Amino acid sequence: MPYDIQPTASHYIDSEYVEDTGGTKIPVIYSATGEVIATVHAATPAIVDRALAAAARAQAAWAATSQTDRGRILRRAADIMRDRNHDLSVLETYDTGKPYSETSLADATSGADALEYFGGIAASIAGEHIQIGDDWVYTRREPLGVCVGIGAWNYPTQIACWKGAPALACGNAMVFKPSETTPLCALKVAEILTEAGLPPGLFNVVQGMGETGQALVTDPRTDKVSLTGSVPTGRRVYAAAAEGLRHVTMELGGKSPMVVFDDANLEDAVSGAILGNFYSTGQVCSNGTRVFVQAGLHDRFVARLAERLGQARTGDPMDPDTTYGPMVSAAQRDIALGFIARARDTGAVLATGGTTDAPDGFEGGFWLAPTVFTGVTDDMEIATDEIFGPVMSVLTFETESEALERANHTPYGLAAGVYTADLTRAHRMAAGFQAGTCYINTYNLSPVEAPFGGMKASGVGRENARAAIEHYTQIKSVYVAMGPTEAPF
Ligand code: NDP
Repeated sequence: MPYDIQPTASHYIDSEYVEDTGGTKIPVIYSATGEVIATVHAATPAIVDRALAAAARAQAAWAATSQTDRGRILRRAADIMRDRNHDLSVLETYDTGKPYSETSLADATSGADALEYFGGIAASIAGEHIQIGDDWVYTRREPLGVCVGIGAWNYPTQIACWKGAPALACGNAMVFKPSETTPLCALKVAEILTEAGLPPGLFNVVQGMGETGQALVTDPRTDKVSLTGSVPTGRRVYAAAAEGLRHVTMELGGKSPMVVFDDANLEDAVSGAILGNFYSTGQVCSNGTRVFVQAGLHDRFVARLAERLGQARTGDPMDPDTTYGPMVSAAQRDIALGFIARARDTGAVLATGGTTDAPDGFEGGFWLAPTVFTGVTDDMEIATDEIFGPVMSVLTFETESEALERANHTPYGLAAGVYTADLTRAHRMAAGFQAGTCYINTYNLSPVEAPFGGMKASGVGRENARAAIEHYTQIKSVYVAMGPTEAPF
């Protein structure tokens, strides 16, 4: 095991590791084996206070720093992150259980993309000039102040960067709370930002459970909250933030549809369904877990899918040849197993998977094979509820209008995809989907250049791209008179 799995201390405040063993112990469990590989402590009220005080103290000077200088620090951090991709990917694998074949491609690299992108556009964040006769108004795009970021456990490095990079580019300070399940990676992001030249107090990490998050969200020093998490948590955090009229970004869950028409390229559609259901062992918010396959293609699709899933390589997550890892925790696997048992009871047909066999030497881990149900109907629990595990539902349909109507029949609206060779139908479907991100003949790509976020219950606001700037700044209008001030009396 690499020497630095156990972090120097639990929290990172004012560019230093900080410990307070008075906080509840949080064991860090390697989900491939079930072993405890590190321990951190939840933040005590004193730690929460220290982090918010540091952020509040540092923010004004950072906002006054030139945007070019701010951007340069972020871009430097991106370079450091890319140089250390191997070590960061190993840590991400220990934190989440995701195989190294994924983490080395999709985690620190995606975090670095965000740092580079927002570092690159920092200097061009600007207001506008509005002419009003001889008078004019100019707008200033000002930071919000202290932003609280709260992360889920599936992409701990990426989530810290997707929130931290735009917040810092816009002149804010951040206090970030990772999920208690994956507390390690955000500390490395903080270390790298310091090394890149970020002044103390601007990116702080505090550990803890929901109550630490709650303390951060309700503190009067907090101006904005950005949460990545489930819809129930989102509702609670949104309500708590509303009390203080704080700005929010809510990146929440989904039950996204993928619609495959008879004329689709079968191999591509199967690849999309695999990416959209089994990458990261199914623990991705935008997964297309309701796969609607047109009746004429259904049997061939299911047969080819089963063949391709047989090629998944389960094994030591650190082995670069392993392509499928364990779930993040015993609790999350139990949730998925509960859905699987109830689906069988209600008449869905288990086409493949549902088993918990572990690879040799990893018997203590939280394994669950890629699982596919066919014969699923719209009202079954596996078709209505977010599972957040490797469980795909295959449904059939006859017509385009039917597919669109059923695809949208959900309270969620995070993502949606269509596979078809018909160009105009593809765009009609994309226009009709009630989802923040739509895919045509691909699935689950989320480059930093494109806005990402949910419609309906899947969220509020957008991350990534220029759209994120809207959510980490506020606009001030300045009216400039060029003539005398006229008053009625
Ligand atoms: P949770 O909603 O359980 O937790 C999210 C974060 O919120 C955790 O850090 C959690 O702390 C914290 N939290 C819990 N309660 C409160 C509270 N009352 N106040 C403040 N913070 C609180 O989500 P999971 O971690 O289980 O992640 C899975 C969910 O995240 C799925 O629904 C998934 O769809 C969604 N997600 C959404 C994404 C998106 O971009 N739209 C991306 C990735 C995931 P702790 O867990 O430590 O108790």
